[in-house]
Amino acid sequence: MYDLLIKNCGQVVTMSGSMPRCGKEMRELAVIEDGFVACEGERIVAVGFMGDFEKKSGYFEGKIGKKTRIIDAGGKVLLPGLIDCHTHLIFAGNRAGEWREKLAGKSYLEILAGGGGILSTVMATRAALKKDLLRSGLSHLREMLAYGVTTVEIKSGYGLDLESEMKILDVAGELGRVQPVCVVRTFLGAHVVGPEFRGEEGGSASDAARYLKYLVQKVLPEVRGKADFVDIFCEKGAFDLKQSEKYLRAAREMGFGVKIHAEQINNLGGCKMACKLGAASFDHCDHLTVADIKALGKLSKGAKGGKKANFCNEPVAVLLPLVPLFLREHVFADGRAMIDNGLAVAVSTDFNPGSCPSKNIFLAMSMACLKMGLLPEEALTAVTVNAAAALRLFDRGVIEKGKRADLVLFDVQNYQEIPYWMGDSKVAKVVCGGKVVLTAS
Ligand SMILES: [Zn+2]
Repeated sequence: MYDLLIKNCGQVVTMSGSMPRCGKEMRELAVIEDGFVACEGERIVAVGFMGDFEKKSGYFEGKIGKKTRIIDAGGKVLLPGLIDCHTHLIFAGNRAGEWREKLAGKSYLEILAGGGGILSTVMATRAALKKDLLRSGLSHLREMLAYGVTTVEIKSGYGLDLESEMKILDVAGELGRVQPVCVVRTFLGAHVVGPEFRGEEGGSASDAARYLKYLVQKVLPEVRGKADFVDIFCEKGAFDLKQSEKYLRAAREMGFGVKIHAEQINNLGGCKMACKLGAASFDHCDHLTVADIKALGKLSKGAKGGKKANFCNEPVAVLLPLVPLFLREHVFADGRAMIDNGLAVAVSTDFNPGSCPSKNIFLAMSMACLKMGLLPEEALTAVTVNAAAALRLFDRGVIEKGKRADLVLFDVQNYQEIPYWMGDSKVAKVVCGGKVVLTAS
């Protein structure tokens, strides 16, 4: 017996097929025109054409009863629940004052000297009570749900010591239990060098090495069971390529999946290093050259292996177009070259107080089209099936029998409109784990 039946969908954008989608496969959305989806419990149990639904008794006989909730989509468009695969959602305070000063012409160094920048968020987050972080996290997740996001990755990284990093991971775990959006946790203690480890120069290479040693010896053992992934910010002023590699290797040996923030501001070779280590994703990529992208394309083909399984551990390039936009940078990742060279691309907001205070995944999709060269169908693949693969979650991001029933109904005629309405949410209904959790007024 169905618990939920959504019928008369103008389009069911199933994304059924290989996971992740690489290169030109990113344009294959496997759309069912005039379709339906049926769910039992948390799972999808049937997907097909309305014409077949009415003709084939297996689809309806004995399947619809008093407890079946039937939604007539009236021609609206159904997609898998959206996945925001890179956020720093738990923090205290905000940096609006600092932003104003930047707009008025203050330099980054002047802002740091005035107590601003990431360490101001670290101090505010350390001082915050768990219940206050929980309250602000809940409000962010409510807004994300309204954008059709049903799974979100949350990184720690505003604690930078054992106690505060654990507090953030605990709050992220609690958030996953008390509201409908699924939460995946990533440990980003290696965001920048912790304040206690900074010498007079404020974070030299030896400070960074001492801090990473502390993370590996004292913190990572405590992170077990509280995070699936370990991430590092490989960048000038944070951690260099060698340090990043050593740290991620140690994390991998401890059983964590690994991710990297790389090539955001400078090209240090972090993306390539992470791919060789078997990272789930390499994120930012704004300063990757076309030659680097070609090399990565070849590397990831090696990772792909045979095509027998319909999912594989291909590393996913996670692009974050709202960051250069907010920072008024002019270099955006070359998403077009990445796709043309066979890479799997995901798009995310990077929601955080310093470089992207927006959690608008529709704006991220539109900007990925406008500034990174993605086509609308590629942008949709990038926030569903490929974002799921960036989190190594192969049970979602796709509308297929047996997958998690995370679904979003959009009040549009054609899926192309979703990134087209530039930042507008056309979400009509959101289903998480088979339950309707949001209906737009
Ligand atoms: Zn980030």
